[in-house]
Amino acid sequence: MRYLVLSDIHANLEALEAVLVAAADLPHDRLLVLGDLVGYGADPNRVVDRVRALAPDIVIRGNHDKVGSGLERPEGFNAVARSAIRWTFETLAPDNRAWLAALPAGPLLVDDLIEICHGTPFDEDAYVFDDGDVLRSLEAARRPVCLFGHTHVQVGYCLADRSLTMCTADAARPLEVSIGGGRYLINPGSVGQPRDGDPRAAFGLVDTTARTVTMYRIDYPIARAQARIVAEGLPEVLAQRLALGR
Ligand code: ZN
Repeated sequence: MRYLVLSDIHANLEALEAVLVAAADLPHDRLLVLGDLVGYGADPNRVVDRVRALAPDIVIRGNHDKVGSGLERPEGFNAVARSAIRWTFETLAPDNRAWLAALPAGPLLVDDLIEICHGTPFDEDAYVFDDGDVLRSLEAARRPVCLFGHTHVQVGYCLADRSLTMCTADAARPLEVSIGGGRYLINPGSVGQPRDGDPRAAFGLVDTTARTVTMYRIDYPIARAQARIVAEGLPEVLAQRLALGR
């Protein structure tokens, strides 16, 4: 089974379309979406429409989906994120809002090898920042491979023989993690708002037969996504950060 894995699209239609074009050349059987379809970006309705039309096998919610759909208040959001999510709530069509509000919380088990979550397997809203977070997540995970999002950093961790190793973004692309006998915590990166210093759109592909997780980066028309953010009157810093990948 080959899974295309998309996370943190964040209403960036330009990035999503570019990823879907790239993914069309990569054979895959199923689609997993790890949450945060909306928030920050200028096209929440068109992104939700596009994802719904793809009929993903599993979509879980992210923190921005909860607030953008009105399920939760934007507590814990900074001023910029809060103003963007208020705009998102007002802009979302009622049908898309209801669809987002009905998304299940992670973690969810996908098959014998994989589970998915937005933040961590112990708390959908928690962030994986340091080794302690990684180990706690691997402890809580119920499958050998746990895929997560939320940090917008493309990274893979492997715990084997009591030693933790990390594969991060470097010049070598795509980044491939071979699934051996260890336990894995892997973030395919953010489609629509990368924060690891590489502004290109990120996504992943899991092949359970080859036992590989491959993480890709692709160029997309960043200037067009920035222009959309400015045109909608969203905070300009949200446009600027797309070019920085921060
Ligand atoms: Zn996010």
